[in-house]
Amino acid sequence: MFKAILIDKQDNGHDNKQRVGLETLDESRLPEGDVTVRVDCSTLNYKDALAITGKGPVVRQFPMVPGIDLAGTVEESTSEAYAPGDAVLLNGWGVGEARWGGLAEKARLDSRWLIPMPSAFTPQQAMAIGTAGYTAMLSVMALERQGVTPDQGEVLVTGANGGVGSYSIALLAQLGYRVVASTGRLEEADYLKGLGAEQVIDRAEFSEPGGPLAKERWAGAIDSVGSHTLANVLASTRYGGSVAACGLAQGMDLPASVAPFILRGVNLMGIDSVMRPYSDRVEAWRRLGELLVPEQLDAITRTIALEDAIQAADDLLAGKVRGRVVVAMSA
Ligand code: NAP
Repeated sequence: MFKAILIDKQDNGHDNKQRVGLETLDESRLPEGDVTVRVDCSTLNYKDALAITGKGPVVRQFPMVPGIDLAGTVEESTSEAYAPGDAVLLNGWGVGEARWGGLAEKARLDSRWLIPMPSAFTPQQAMAIGTAGYTAMLSVMALERQGVTPDQGEVLVTGANGGVGSYSIALLAQLGYRVVASTGRLEEADYLKGLGAEQVIDRAEFSEPGGPLAKERWAGAIDSVGSHTLANVLASTRYGGSVAACGLAQGMDLPASVAPFILRGVNLMGIDSVMRPYSDRVEAWRRLGELLVPEQLDAITRTIALEDAIQAADDLLAGKVRGRVVVAMSA
């Protein structure tokens, strides 16, 4: 038997609402897969909060165990890649959306979705990073590939207090970039400066409809917000600058014009972490291991027990969570 957060939806004739609770399940209910993992830790991403609360169409089949990230130890394996006792890490691949995920004491998975646990991190630290930090790293790598260097000027990070935003600030600052953090929570300025932001600005500057072009300011940007924010960020990116778009916290729309692209040669790069090939994942985690220091992880992270994950999902969507929430199975 193992404990899991279970999301279910049954059309009982009266309503078709989803229900979510902490349940004790028999192992025979685990899905198929060549590796069974004892989960040490998972985490709460924005997507997990949408799945748990039912506020976004994340779950693609019911019943579902949410949790798009997990860190654990292999218990059983018929894969040649992993043996019992191996420490492993998983981010994405539709786990927690279409396949049972990490907010459980056990998971059965396809071994191709796993990577070996990076030696730089404990399971707890890897989950403090989670998809948020891994996506931030992919975004930074995209800016680097596009030729954005620290000497070119300021780099903007939107959604600064969120998981992706917090890690983007920390990674960029560690690499020597001058980071400007955009947030709706100016009272968290000290936290953001502690992560490495040089300046903290009000996100209201970007939230409303703007013109096709604005004063050129950013050499680069990492945007986890989308909608008008991304449109305004593009409009204020400097000639030849690059923007990595990885989120939709304000909205999925992009009410922008082509002016920044055709008049200023601005580059817009899409970042997907979910289906990213194995080699990119290993490289991103290797870079994370080089760049992040444990004290920074502690400052960004709060640890909760599995039974507290449902309430924490509400808090996250209500914008009450700063940084990252680790869910420790032994907490
Ligand atoms: P998060 O921790 O909830 O952070 C989102 C942040 O966005 C909030 O902390 C807030 O920052 C800001 N925000 C929220 N609502 C906003 C609004 N209406 N207008 C402007 N800003 C708003 O979430 P996360 O885990 O960092 O994820 C951020 C986004 O990236 C989500 O949309 C998520 O789905 C996406 N994501 C995508 C990938 C990928 O593979 N592409 C991977 C991970 C996440 P402030 O309080 O500082 O303003």
